[in-house]
Amino acid sequence: MDQPHLEEDRSSKFSPSKLSVYQNCPRRYQYRYVDKISRQRKTPETVVGVAVHSTFEELYALVTGGKVPSLADLHEVYEREFAEGWDGSVVEKDARFAKDDWRKVGRDCVQLYYEGHQPFAADRTVAIEKRVGFPITVDGHEYRIEGFVDRLALAPDGAFEIVDYKTAKSLPNQQHADEDWQLALYELAVRREWPDTKEVRLKWHYVRHGKTLVSIRDDAARAKLLADAAELISRIKHDHEFAPRPGTLCDWCEYRDLCPVFADEVRVAALPPAERAKDGGVRLVASYAEIEGRRKRLKDELKAVEAEREKVESDIADWAEAAGVTTVAGERAQASVTVKEEIQLPTKTGEAEKHAELEAEARKTPLWAEVARLDGHALLDGLKARRWTGELLALAESLVARFGHRTHKRTVRLKRRADSEED
Ligand code: SF4
Repeated sequence: MDQPHLEEDRSSKFSPSKLSVYQNCPRRYQYRYVDKISRQRKTPETVVGVAVHSTFEELYALVTGGKVPSLADLHEVYEREFAEGWDGSVVEKDARFAKDDWRKVGRDCVQLYYEGHQPFAADRTVAIEKRVGFPITVDGHEYRIEGFVDRLALAPDGAFEIVDYKTAKSLPNQQHADEDWQLALYELAVRREWPDTKEVRLKWHYVRHGKTLVSIRDDAARAKLLADAAELISRIKHDHEFAPRPGTLCDWCEYRDLCPVFADEVRVAALPPAERAKDGGVRLVASYAEIEGRRKRLKDELKAVEAEREKVESDIADWAEAAGVTTVAGERAQASVTVKEEIQLPTKTGEAEKHAELEAEARKTPLWAEVARLDGHALLDGLKARRWTGELLALAESLVARFGHRTHKRTVRLKRRADSEED
C-alpha cells in the first residue's frame, strides 16, 4: 500500500530541469531531490551528449582565444572525451547499436556543426558553460532559479544569444521551441545581469540534424513564465505526497524499483521462475494479453470485411445503374439499391476548419440555442483544468455538484514491458 510521504522539500534552488522533473512526475522529484537518492545512470546517449558538449566547449575556448581548430583537431577532442566517458557503468538498452555506432553518432554531430559554422565568426562568445540565475519570491520566501548556459554569445546586432546544443535523435518543431522554458528562464537571468539588453534570442542547435531553432519571447511571455515558475515552486513547497504520475517516462525512470506503481513488478521479478508462471496476477495478465491479441485480430478482420463490403456495395450500385434496375437478382438473394439525396455537414474530425466556421456562424443566430447540445465532457474537463474563473467557475461547480454523481471507473490497460521481447 502506498504511504503518503510527509518529508518536505527543503530546496532553496531550482533549476529548469529540476522543475521539469516535478512537472513530469512528483514522485520521481521526491526520490531525487527530497530523499536525495542518487541513481545517476550513464546511457550511450548521455556519453555522446557529454562528449559533444565538451568538444564544443573546447572549440569555443580556442575560438575566443583567436584560434580556429581544424576538424581533425576537434575530432581528436571528441574521441578522447568519448573514450573517457564510455566506462563500465554505461547501461546499453538497445542491442542493435554497439559502442562504435554511438561513437560515430557524436563524431558526425561534431562534423555537421563544424562544417555548418566555420569559421565561427557569426557571433562573439561571451561565456561558455556559464552559471546564470536570479532570485524569485514565492509565498513570501526567496528562492533562486539557476542553471548553466552552454554558450552565451553576442550577435552583431547587439542581441544576446543563449545557445544550447542538443544531440537528441528527434527534432522538435517550432511550437516546442516557443514553449520551452529552460532557455527562457536563463533569459530572465541574462536580462538581470545586463539590464540594457534589447533583444535575447534563444537558440537550440540540434546537431544530429544540422538544424537550429530560434525563439524570441516578448514581455508578456516573460511575465507569464515567471508567474508559472513561481506557481510551480509554490506547488512543490506545499506538496506532502509527491504522487507518482505514471507515463511514458517510467520506462527510463531510475527509481522504478522504488515506485509504488511498479511494486508488483518488483514482487514478480523476485519470484523463482517456476512460481512466477503460477502466480495469480501473472496468469490474469497473460490471459488478458491473449484476449487483447484476439480482439485486435478480430478488429483488423472486421475492418477488412467492412472495406470489402463497401467495395461490393459500390459495385452492385454501379451494376444496377448501368442495367437500369433498382434490384439486382442473385440465385438465393437479391440486392436492392435505393438512391437518396442527403446533405452532409462538415464534421469536427473530417473538415475541422469548415466545421469551426459553421459553428461560429450558427452561434451568432438564435438557432444556436435550438441546435447546441450540452457537452458533459467539456464541462468536466474545463472544471478539472480550471479553464474558468469567478462566476463561470462557480456556475460550473454548482452544475456538477447538482447533477453529477461520483463513481469509480476502473480501467485496465495493457502495456508491453520495455524489456519484453517482440512477438
Ligand atoms: S516509475 Fe514512473 S511513476 Fe514511478 S517515479 Fe518513476 S516516473 Fe514516476
